[in-house]
Amino acid sequence: MVAESARDFPMFIDGGPAEAASGAWIEVRSPATRALVGRVPAGTEADVDRAVRAARIAFEDGRWSRRYLPERAAIVARLADLIEADADELAALETAQTGAAYKLRRDSDLPFTVDNLRFFAGAVRHLEGKAAWEYSGSHTSFVRREPLGVVGQVSPWNYPLWMAIWKIGPALAAGNSVVLKPASATPLTTIRLAELAAEAGLPAGVLNVVTGRGDIVGAALAGHPGVDLVSLTGDSETGRRIMALASGNLKRVHLELGGKAPFIVHADADLEAAARGATAGALINGGQDCTAATRVYVHRSVAAPFTARLVELFRSVRVGDPTAADTDLGTLISAAQVARVDGFVRRAVAAGARVLAGGARPAVPGLPDGAFYLPTVIVDAAQDSEIVQQEVFGPVLVVLPFDTEEEALAKANDTVYGLASSVWTNDVRVAMRATQALNFGHVLVNDHLMVTSEMPHGGFGQSGFGKDMSMYSFEEYTRVKHVMIELTGEPEKPWHYTIFGDQKA
Ligand code: NAD
Repeated sequence: MVAESARDFPMFIDGGPAEAASGAWIEVRSPATRALVGRVPAGTEADVDRAVRAARIAFEDGRWSRRYLPERAAIVARLADLIEADADELAALETAQTGAAYKLRRDSDLPFTVDNLRFFAGAVRHLEGKAAWEYSGSHTSFVRREPLGVVGQVSPWNYPLWMAIWKIGPALAAGNSVVLKPASATPLTTIRLAELAAEAGLPAGVLNVVTGRGDIVGAALAGHPGVDLVSLTGDSETGRRIMALASGNLKRVHLELGGKAPFIVHADADLEAAARGATAGALINGGQDCTAATRVYVHRSVAAPFTARLVELFRSVRVGDPTAADTDLGTLISAAQVARVDGFVRRAVAAGARVLAGGARPAVPGLPDGAFYLPTVIVDAAQDSEIVQQEVFGPVLVVLPFDTEEEALAKANDTVYGLASSVWTNDVRVAMRATQALNFGHVLVNDHLMVTSEMPHGGFGQSGFGKDMSMYSFEEYTRVKHVMIELTGEPEKPWHYTIFGDQKA
């Protein structure tokens, strides 16, 4: 498992490699070693414009949007096969640019990526609408579900390839043309994705990847009058910017944003299962996961043994070289992200919280400048404090006690976010009351993090709107057209008198 040697990864526009109009390049470096992993063109508005034009032509001429559906589905499925065949190389490249442990990329991201795509390839053949019927009495009505046109997509750095698939999967399967902008820190696997899509038989212009800065390329996509929908997975603040830019041509918006997932542990819960679930839930991808467990609310009667076990588990996590098979946790995305996470921890301590594990950068032998941070457990933070309210996006878990079920639910819901949550109990009534009360798009009982291709993923509140995965994702990437066919052939309709002439006797 050796990361591909550094090379240039041109953008992908109109079926082939493309350099930026600016001629400038952006370096992508390993957050573990600072070694150069690759370079991508620094795209500009001119490159977005070129890609949108190519996407529009491809859409209008029907080379993909009106392609025989079994063939379209087969090409999406073939892309899944090619990704699966290349999984080792893609996972190594993903690890090189993100610093996350290879085993997470290879054994979690890649299999989910492949399965998600296979789901979209099959699901597009099952799109549904209202039954055709004579609802008016004299016309047959039916619904056409159509692709939107040109879709602009902006993806994040935490799971670069996997999140790109959540975006392009339903968009392409439904017949749209896509212009995708990956995060500037992690564009390399997205370029490989476009290359593999072409190899799978996707026609030129249907999937374009433009690399570059968010405030240049992402903003140009969001504001472009030739784009019919803009979809972002990213920070809530970026979501606000994109929504404002999208208002120019009133394009559709689909936002998958930040999270601050609560994790409620009742006194009757299996505490070992909950402690393990909280460790995995908080530390997945170094906590750089929008669904990561960030706030544990544990019943006061079991808070001490639960927290002691949690600290033990956090300390057992092996932080180190992301490419090593025995590494659990690699780096965060960058030194800047480490400084940001550490800043949250320092301010929490200054405000009266205590650090029971971690709370510092480790020294990893052989990787002196790596963006590492230790798994961190914090207690004694106030509910209204920054560490409990804001998205840290790092390996930091806050543990808070509660006394009553109502208090736990109220504190869990006390957030601007609404993406994921979990409740741990063996009492079915307590569990069912929680699933009803929790204001989150995903509520788990006795587990955390699990997602599946068949079920929707998406948030409430400032976690955004619209769904990824499942049949619901096709709601975002299709439009519904009502068609009515008049059946009587009569030139004079009984209702015409309401506009001209008199009512017939
Ligand atoms: P980010 O918002 O910084 O960047 C996301 C993308 O937006 C990048 O491609 C970036 O270049 C682009 N961007 C940045 N500024 C822009 C602007 N002004 N106009 C247009 N595009 C712009 O987010 P990130 O740091 O890459 O990812 C982490 C965030 O993503 C976290 O908040 C996390 O919770 C969220 N996330 C959400 C989900 C979900 O499904 N809800 C999934 C993964 C990540």
